[in-house]
Parts: sequence; C-alpha cells; structure tokens
Amino acid sequence: MQEGCPKNMVNGPCGGVDSNGKCEVDGRPCPYTELLKGKPEVLETPILGPGFIYKDVSLEIKGYSELLGKMLNGQKVFLIELEPSRRGHGLRFLDQARPFKGVVDGFSITDNPLGRVQTDPVAAAGYLRVNGFTEDIMVHLSCKDRNRASLTSTALGGLWLGVKNYLALTGDWPGFMAGPHVKPVFDLDSVRLIYMLRLLRDYELDYMGGKVKEVPEFNIAGATNPYSLWEIELRKLRAKRRAGMEFIVSQPLFSDEAVRKLKDIKNDPLLRNLPVIATVMLMRNRWDVDIVRKHFHVNLHENPDPLEELENRINNILSIDYVNGILIVFSGDWNYAEGIASIVKRCK
Ligand code: SF4
Repeated sequence: MQEGCPKNMVNGPCGGVDSNGKCEVDGRPCPYTELLKGKPEVLETPILGPGFIYKDVSLEIKGYSELLGKMLNGQKVFLIELEPSRRGHGLRFLDQARPFKGVVDGFSITDNPLGRVQTDPVAAAGYLRVNGFTEDIMVHLSCKDRNRASLTSTALGGLWLGVKNYLALTGDWPGFMAGPHVKPVFDLDSVRLIYMLRLLRDYELDYMGGKVKEVPEFNIAGATNPYSLWEIELRKLRAKRRAGMEFIVSQPLFSDEAVRKLKDIKNDPLLRNLPVIATVMLMRNRWDVDIVRKHFHVNLHENPDPLEELENRINNILSIDYVNGILIVFSGDWNYAEGIASIVKRCK
C-alpha cells in the first residue's frame, strides 16, 4: 500500500483524501479508500512497521495537562491557534497572543501549516513562557518535515519548556507552499507518531527501546477531518485511540452537518470517553469564504460582521453536549485578536 502513497502512509489514508477518494498530492485515487470495499476493519488496527519496539498501550485517560484535566472534569475549554510568524523577531507572535493572556485555557501552536515555512512551534512555545504566559500549550507535531529521531528530540525539547500537549499530525504535502524541491519526509504517520509519544511518556523509552530519563508528563491529541470520507475517518480514529490518542481536535468546521458528525465519536464504544475539541475559523472576508467554498464545498455566506458570525457559531457549538471545547483559528490577524478575546470572555 505504501508504494501507491506519496506520504508513505502505512496507516492510511491521510487527511488529504477528499470526499471522492482523491489524493491531495496529485489527484490519484487514494489506494486506502479501496479498502472500504474489501476489509475496512484493517484500518482500525495500528500498524507500526519496522524499527519500533512493541509495548501495550493503556486505554485509561489521565489528565497530565490542565487542559485535558478540565475537559475530563466536564469543563468546556477555549483555545486559540497561533501561527509562529517568521517576521518581527517574535513580536508579531506576541501581538497575536497577548489579548488572550489569562483569558483562554490554552494556546495551540501550528507546525508549518500547509508546508508554509514559519518559526519552530516549540521555540514559539518557549517564547510564550519567557514572556510570562502560563496557559497550557498544545504544540502541533507534523511528520512532513521530521523523521522519528527528530520528532523525538522536538517532543523532548518541548517538555523542557513546559509543553503539556502534543497534537500528532501526519501533515500536509510540503510542496504546496515550501517549494517544489523540498524533500517531504513522512518517515511516520500520525498513528505511529501517537504510539511513539506514548512510548516516551508511559515507558520512558524511545522508538528503539532506548531509555529516556525525562519523566515526561503530557497528553496526546489526534486530529479528525469531517470533510474527509467519514467512515474511513472513524475507523482511523479507532486506530489512533488504540495507538494512544487521548483527545480529539477537529479540523475547522464550517457547517452544522460537519459538527453533527462529531456525535458519531460519542456513540462509538471505543471513542466515547475521548474529549472532543471543535475548531471554528474566523471568516474575515470574501477571500476566506471563497477558499472554504473551493476546498470544502460548503456554500458559506459572507457576513459583514465576521466577529458576530464567529460568536454565533461558537454559541451554537457550545450548546452541544458532545463537544468539550472550542479551538478558534483567526489566521494570525491581530486586528481581530481583541474582539475574539472579548467573545471568549462572554462565552465562558
Ligand atoms: S490521500 Fe494521503 S494516504 Fe491517500 S495516497 Fe494521497 S497521500 Fe497517500
């Protein structure tokens, strides 16, 4: 199967498969979608491949981070997504974050989304810490630019800086934004990355079984994409759960239908205990709306008051009992940061 996949997925498909089963990289039919016609249940079992030691993964969920602890106690949490800018010596990054200090439960820091080259997310997490931010941090770890050794080093580095949550992602195809000559890595996929992080935390071992003496305490999230083939997506979530995922973060949700799909997670015997964070995105202008129409085939209407639109969507989602938190994405546009912080204060 790996041979037919540009990302070398062994636990496929990745989130880049569209609802017609086409690959995001070059439009080829994704070979993993063929499994649905034969033995779809094989997608539910994590495959580690060579080079990993095998250990049992407990399904018990412990809240090492405040973020997960709050959700396990029934509290709804708010996170803000920050993109670490590569301009302004970090000052722009702080401008994004400052209005949310003491307001949100956590910051979610991206790892070169869409392959765009930005500042390292663990360095950005450290920058928040040295500037007095004490909120929980969830660092995105993507397999697109780093192999398993480098991902291990990055995760350990984050622990020194007080990172308590990692969002394990396969990652986008880097050639889209990082240039056609960049070498995609994809040594791992998200399922194996989750397992590797559980080895670190539960057994203090690296992927080969080498001892790590860091006494790491952190939690591991996985992503879900309701705009992908949903039957496959649910099966992949079960594989991630078995690999060690402890909470779920959705891709941005643009329609009520996409939000309703999250209910299937709470109806699934293997997944129902996992807290689910729903992601909402600020639609600033016609350009944002057109991107959603083009990529997600959702016919959004442009609202002249983007903040009002955002607040309405947040309140709708908060009224749903199967959602445990909200992650707000605002594309790093700090013109809106104060307004969004006010929304969070009202909604909390
Ligand atoms: S959609 Fe993802 S898993 Fe499927 S072939 Fe493309 S890169 Fe591989």
